[in-house]
Amino acid sequence: MPLELVTIPCLEDNYAFLLHNDVTAETLLVDAPEAAPIQATLDAQGWTLTDILLTHHHWDHVDGLEPLRGDARVIGAAADAHRLPPLDLAVSEGDALTLCGQDAQVFDVSGHTLGHIAVYIEAARVVFTADSLMALGCGRLFEGTPAQMWTSLQKLRELPDDTRVCSGHEYTQTNAAFAQTIEPDNPDLISRIEDVATMRAAGQPTVPSTLGLEKKTNPFLRADIAALQRAVGLVGADAADVFAHVRKKRDVF
Ligand code: ZN
Ligand code: FE
Repeated sequence: MPLELVTIPCLEDNYAFLLHNDVTAETLLVDAPEAAPIQATLDAQGWTLTDILLTHHHWDHVDGLEPLRGDARVIGAAADAHRLPPLDLAVSEGDALTLCGQDAQVFDVSGHTLGHIAVYIEAARVVFTADSLMALGCGRLFEGTPAQMWTSLQKLRELPDDTRVCSGHEYTQTNAAFAQTIEPDNPDLISRIEDVATMRAAGQPTVPSTLGLEKKTNPFLRADIAALQRAVGLVGADAADVFAHVRKKRDVF
């Protein structure tokens, strides 16, 4: 598959992503935290943006848009069109899209905000999750309820294990420290924490991760898993309540 994924650090701890199809010469940008590093990457690769996907309305995902826009098609959630920059295409969950010449699927992943979307491109083995599912974490609940976020994360959890999870921030070490307080005896988590420390010490991004790894280690994907329920003393509880319990602890961590 002639698809290349590039992760671009922006601002303090944000990530933007480029997906490029060498055959069709299409390039997708996911989120626009800051124009300069994104433009520099485009120039270095010799790529021109054909599509820009905005995952949600927060300033650190959209403020870099206008200088990058050019002739690209700007795509965002129909539910958020009133508070996103002007869109060329407004989408909703279940809509079929073609991005970089590939079928793409839109998910409503409300919770961090209402109207946050994620986009899955099976051919590229990639899902763009921004501030919904994050590496070892999930976005803070500014607008949605815990039950909404849990529903959103369950949709993403259905995707194949080898899907690369492109989330919006480098929060992984803080998330790891928190995850360790929830499931200190999870062997997959223990080894991941070591890997994360090594990557960060070498100045490498820990994003994207893979969904398979998130399923084994991310406490927010494990609210209905017996090992996690045991670890937090909520065996048999409703998964949405377990999720809410863990998220509340993270809020004050
Ligand atoms: Zn956000
Ligand atoms: Fe953000």
